[in-house]
Amino acid sequence: MEEVIIKNKEKYLQENYPFVDIPKLTDKKRCLHCDEIITVGDYKVYRDENNMEFIYCSNAPECNGTLIDWWPVD
Ligand SMILES: [Zn+2]
Repeated sequence: MEEVIIKNKEKYLQENYPFVDIPKLTDKKRCLHCDEIITVGDYKVYRDENNMEFIYCSNAPECNGTLIDWWPVD
């Protein structure tokens, strides 16, 4: 997988977030894969062999969690 550098992270998130409830870049989430609290705006984007882009945990590539693994922090 190849990292994609995103210049406008807010715009990218709005255009590519798969659910209606788009988080803010400043929101905190818990990543279920690495069990760390991450800041949404630190997300990374990787492109797979099929040219699909996925929004990953900020700890990628060490963590293979994607945005579906992000849970609310209470
Ligand atoms: Zn993670």
